[in-house]
Amino acid sequence: MIPAAFEYVAPASVEEALAALAEHGDEAKIIAGGQSLLPVLRMRLNAPEWVIDLGRIESLRGVRDAGDHLAVGAMTTHHDVGKDALVHEHALLVSKAISHLADAQVRHRGTFGGALAHADPAGDLGAPVLALDATMVVQGPGGTREVAAADFFVDLFETAISDDEILVEVRVPKHTGWGASYEKFVRIAHQWPIVAVAAAVRMDGDRIAEARVGLTNMGSTPLRATAVEEALVGQPATTDAVRQAATHAADGANPPTDLNGSAEYRNHLATVLTARAVLAAAGRDAT
Ligand SMILES: Cc1cc2nc3c(=O)[nH]c(=O)nc-3n(C[C@H](O)[C@H](O)[C@H](O)COP(=O)(O)OP(=O)(O)OC[C@H]3O[C@@H](n4cnc5c(N)ncnc54)[C@H](O)[C@@H]3O)c2cc1C
Repeated sequence: MIPAAFEYVAPASVEEALAALAEHGDEAKIIAGGQSLLPVLRMRLNAPEWVIDLGRIESLRGVRDAGDHLAVGAMTTHHDVGKDALVHEHALLVSKAISHLADAQVRHRGTFGGALAHADPAGDLGAPVLALDATMVVQGPGGTREVAAADFFVDLFETAISDDEILVEVRVPKHTGWGASYEKFVRIAHQWPIVAVAAAVRMDGDRIAEARVGLTNMGSTPLRATAVEEALVGQPATTDAVRQAATHAADGANPPTDLNGSAEYRNHLATVLTARAVLAAAGRDAT
């Protein structure tokens, strides 16, 4: 279907974009890569009078080394984040997750910030940024504020970004030297995950010194598997020990039941995928 008619503006700066948002209020919608918004407009599930395109704002693009963290501009495409050497070195989990995200076409258009702002619980970026304790920087009429990833995802397709704000940057703390893996379970290639697990592990010899585990599509928002993280600390990275810790993967989760599987099935998947992801992150063969 063709979207309903709308007015289009492509500001050259965040300030201009914020002014347009303030002027048009509820009648306006931000567009980034358009990979989620355009299907919504084409199906006429939303019909904004104004579409504000962030595509010309160069300051929102790129990955920067900012000392203890990487600063990822909200308009950096999945492709550019995924191939970035800094991301590979300091936030390997993000590179791993992006390698499983959609197809090359979508990765060249879709943006890091757009995917997080969209907050689809099946989206592949929420769990990694949550697991790595990222901070979202949002800008509004009063300036910028920082929102911890743990507070950013509020509910299904709902974030802490207010109507008059724009997500401008994602700060990902460096996890240099950590192993990482993103295990995504799909029925057919390039699909959204039925369940996925993001794991990053810091080894100390043969033992797991620290672990971070995030779950995709196990509730209305990305989740952190803290019980697994705690159970892994100090454990040897053996199949038995990791599988034992992974039995806690679905603790506190509330996965949906839909055509792809029941909640019970998803709980099982979370356990299996967590063990695989942690073992792979620790450099062990999961078999
Ligand atoms: C065929 C297909 C397959 C896909 N498969 C996957 C998949 O397997 N895994 C996955 O994770 N994703 C998948 N996606 C989605 C993809 O990751 C999109 O890139 C992402 O969901 C939205 O990013 P975008 O830049 O295109 O944002 P848009 O579609 O432009 O915007 C999405 C929403 O976020 C808002 N928004 C965007 N940027 C900002 C900002 N900076 N500040 C405030 N609000 C903002 C918009 O107003 C809109 O509501 C798929 C998409 C398609 C079309």
